[in-house]
Amino acid sequence: MSKQVRVRFAPSPTGPLHIGGVRTALFNYLFAKKNGGTFFLRIEDTDQNRFVPGAEEYILEALEWLGISPDETIGKNEKFGPYRQSERKHLYKKYADQLIESGNAYYAFDTPEALDAHRKEHEEKGKTFIYNHHNREKLDTSLVISAEETAKRIANGEDYVIRFKTPVNEILHLTDIIRGHVKFDTNLLDDKVLFKSDGMPTYHLANIVDDHLMGTTHVIRGEEWLPSMPLHVLLYHALGWLSPEFAHLPLILKPVGNGKLSKRDGDKLGFPVFPLEWKTEEAISSGYREKGFFPEAVVNFLALLGWNDGTDKELYTLEELVQAFDLKRVHKAGAKFDPEKNKWFNHQYLIQADNEVLAKAYAPILIEKSISIDLATLTKIVSLIKERASFVSDFWEMSDFFFIPPTTYDAKASKNWKEETPELMQNLITVLEGIEDFTSVNIETIVKEWMTKNEIGMGKVMQPFRLSLVGALKGPHLFDIVEVIGKKETIIRLEKAINSL
Ligand code: GLU
Repeated sequence: MSKQVRVRFAPSPTGPLHIGGVRTALFNYLFAKKNGGTFFLRIEDTDQNRFVPGAEEYILEALEWLGISPDETIGKNEKFGPYRQSERKHLYKKYADQLIESGNAYYAFDTPEALDAHRKEHEEKGKTFIYNHHNREKLDTSLVISAEETAKRIANGEDYVIRFKTPVNEILHLTDIIRGHVKFDTNLLDDKVLFKSDGMPTYHLANIVDDHLMGTTHVIRGEEWLPSMPLHVLLYHALGWLSPEFAHLPLILKPVGNGKLSKRDGDKLGFPVFPLEWKTEEAISSGYREKGFFPEAVVNFLALLGWNDGTDKELYTLEELVQAFDLKRVHKAGAKFDPEKNKWFNHQYLIQADNEVLAKAYAPILIEKSISIDLATLTKIVSLIKERASFVSDFWEMSDFFFIPPTTYDAKASKNWKEETPELMQNLITVLEGIEDFTSVNIETIVKEWMTKNEIGMGKVMQPFRLSLVGALKGPHLFDIVEVIGKKETIIRLEKAINSL
């Protein structure tokens, strides 16, 4: 029987979660659920210099808003805890020591000044200094001094790092679930730092120790980590562990031009790249939630950034995504981020949404404008306008005339207000006054009968009628507006137009 799937999302709390990170979390979530496995969240905060207060809370809140919360994390089913690397500090030293003992790692005492000097010296010769198998025997390491000397220097409190001793002349043939066969030449790798004398591991050591101890079966992460894959596999082997499987997700690219979508692209180009708004003293970065996106729509468009199920289907519930998702169908090539398409997704969810739910979401906007209206009427208004909206925040502009009579009339549309129009509108008022059952279909039937009987052209009545009620030639079906605002208000507006146009 194959092992129970356990996957993780392992962000570093260095700021708000970028949309690329959210997609990584989503793909892990989908993969776990598809395979009846577990999705956990680990906070990778070994680099205290880059720690940003609030980032961890932000990440959890964002996943919760999207409906893809982890099964295990800080404070939740802590079976493999702690889930914060800074609280796992005591675990790593032992493995660094084990690597030293087995000859897979070594101590390096080079001071920052010494390393700088090496860099300069190389630069002068037109070369780049790389800490690797070419240099390591010439540097200040335990590879060239005796064990006693090494122990003495450490005991004396000298600063050191532990570096991985990358094997020489090996070609690694590895498999990535998305990319297939990938090949790495170990001679091209540098000897990465694994551990520092301040007692903290680096990302590389902590990441593989934790993935091992926390039972990770599949590492699903962004393409930017692909170059780390050979080191990670070598570390698993050096520690005598089986390596998890790897899947490196394609980059998310800018909407136009080349390159990776950056945290800065969003507000610069007028769309959010963060799930939730993020405020600092210097700036506010907009979030999908605050912009009025539905979490389901965000999940849906993110799922299609770099994946499809082989059909043209675009609209998926989370449950459908879980059923359809297949890591093998994730693309290798970068996925272009299309803000217009995101809006389209939101529009699709908006038109499917329950009208009363939308009315309740719209209500605060009206309250702010001191407009009071009952829920049933508001629900009706929403049903009339939502077809053309992408966001609840679009509603006001599309429906203000339901609540406030026009104060101005669109100049271009007013050209249709002819000499005979006031009399026609006056007659229309008389027709409307006589209607008992003031419902859209009935009003329409009676008004049209009146026009036919008197041989009045449609345009002659309908355009000035709409202009009188709305102030412009916009809005939903005219007789629906008439029904909602009611007989009295319709007549008041017609009279006002007769007097002012
Ligand atoms: N902490 C890394 C990051 O911030 C995790 C990379 C990985 O998933 O291994 O993306």
